[in-house]
Amino acid sequence: MKALSPAAHDGPGSPSSSPHPARAQAGLLAWAHPDSYFRFSFVMLLYLVASWGGNSLTRTPAVADIIWPANGLLLAFLLPIARRHWASYLAASIVINTGVHVVCGFSPSRAVLYTAANTIEVVIAALLVSSRDGSKPDLTKMRTLLRFVFCAVLLAPCASTGFVEMVLAVWTYPRHPELLANWLVGDVMGMALMTPLCLALDRSEFLALLAPRKRWETIGILGAILLLSIAVFTQTGLPIDFLIIPPVLVAVFRLRGTGAALAILLVAAPAVYMTERAHGAFMISGASTDHHGFFILQLFLCVNLVIVYAVNAALGARDRIHQEMTAAFHEADAMAAQDYATGLANRLRFDRQLEREWQNAARQHNSLALLMVDIDQFKLYNDHYGHLAGDECLRRIAAIMAGASLRSTDMVARYGGEEFAVILPRATREGAMALAERIRQSVADAQLRHLPYTPGIVTVSIGVASMRPDNAKDETALIQCADRALYAAKRAGRNRVESSEEECPSAQDD
Ligand code: GH3
Ligand code: MG
Ligand code: MG
Repeated sequence: MKALSPAAHDGPGSPSSSPHPARAQAGLLAWAHPDSYFRFSFVMLLYLVASWGGNSLTRTPAVADIIWPANGLLLAFLLPIARRHWASYLAASIVINTGVHVVCGFSPSRAVLYTAANTIEVVIAALLVSSRDGSKPDLTKMRTLLRFVFCAVLLAPCASTGFVEMVLAVWTYPRHPELLANWLVGDVMGMALMTPLCLALDRSEFLALLAPRKRWETIGILGAILLLSIAVFTQTGLPIDFLIIPPVLVAVFRLRGTGAALAILLVAAPAVYMTERAHGAFMISGASTDHHGFFILQLFLCVNLVIVYAVNAALGARDRIHQEMTAAFHEADAMAAQDYATGLANRLRFDRQLEREWQNAARQHNSLALLMVDIDQFKLYNDHYGHLAGDECLRRIAAIMAGASLRSTDMVARYGGEEFAVILPRATREGAMALAERIRQSVADAQLRHLPYTPGIVTVSIGVASMRPDNAKDETALIQCADRALYAAKRAGRNRVESSEEECPSAQDD
């Protein structure tokens, strides 16, 4: 509405911004202070510009604003902060609002009336839309969007317009129904356009629109919309306003809510300016009076806003489903590649990784080593201690192996049963033997009791193979070599490391 903006409010203190009860009880002082003086000054400067602009766009005081942007702007900056900081913003807005109206030629009583109505509107909207913890409403969520539309865009402007109507009736001022209709829709427009836009501004979403990859697309789409709007509203011959809708849709699809809100602002600015000067698509034929032309323009902008926010909410819902599905897919993918009992890579991931490393090594003429690790006499362990204890023992051995100092390119996997495998890209036989010995020693040092087995502790046998892969063979050759070395270690008495030097081409010369 032409003259409506914020007033003092005394909502309950929000617990969110002050986790310390002592500080939260700073009493009246807390109410008098804004959350941050820099933000406060910035918001009030914007508010002054919006109030001034809203008033000065109108050519004569008898004509209501087509859009009243100040209330929506103030609302957007109140929503993300704790309620106990609202008072300072509202008090300052009252002073600015009253002052601007007086300077723009309204009588002091009118200025006070309009300021009171504006304040009522902002307070109602802020109370109904804000969350107690001061978190910012996400208007891409359908439920939040509907709450915002019902409370802030419809209910609050109706309440403030009703308030003005009531006071004017009591006051027996000459009243003008068309004027009030324009005021109401002007306030509705201001809320619907400015609040989402400024909420996005606060979230730095503008910066995303100007990121190097997006910059030219943003400028292109918004520039085209501005030019089109100027073209449509400077001519008065043809009712071609509908041409605006397709590029606005392009804006919402490509630039999302923030870009689309900016697009509507760019449509509205020339439209309001030219319609006020009796030009444009809404000043032809049917518009018998200025008020009709303004009203049609307001409805046109409302329709655009409804399209933009409905499409944006649908796109937001689609994005959220996409994110959830992607996360679920990644989780399922990770689980499919992980051994449930030990948390190590499972056999599937091992097979894929070994194939990949084989091909890499063949291409780059590097060596590739493999350790096959088998727990000694594990069947006896199970028979003696039970399978649950056996599972726990497997987990302990897996943790020891995962903790052995490995390079980031190495991989430890559960090969199957009580057997583990370690892939060591670019490792020489000596390097692989040294690591295998470290693992064997670490397992022995863990001193896990295994009474039915002669050493009395859990031990592992390890077979080591190292090859220089070529395309004539595949990775199964490496597995066979490591397997043979493992069984050599078993035959030699267990709890030892063996390599299959004789059967496999050595990578020693690496
Ligand atoms: P060796 O020293 O020759 O390797 O003797 P071993 O007893 O370890 O070998 P064998 O192949 O005879 O037995 C392997 C045992 O590993 C049999 C099985 O009960 C046990 N095992 C395999 N997978 C699991 C598992 O997931 N949990 C438990 N608790 N035991 C398992
Ligand atoms: Mg085995
Ligand atoms: Mg075994």
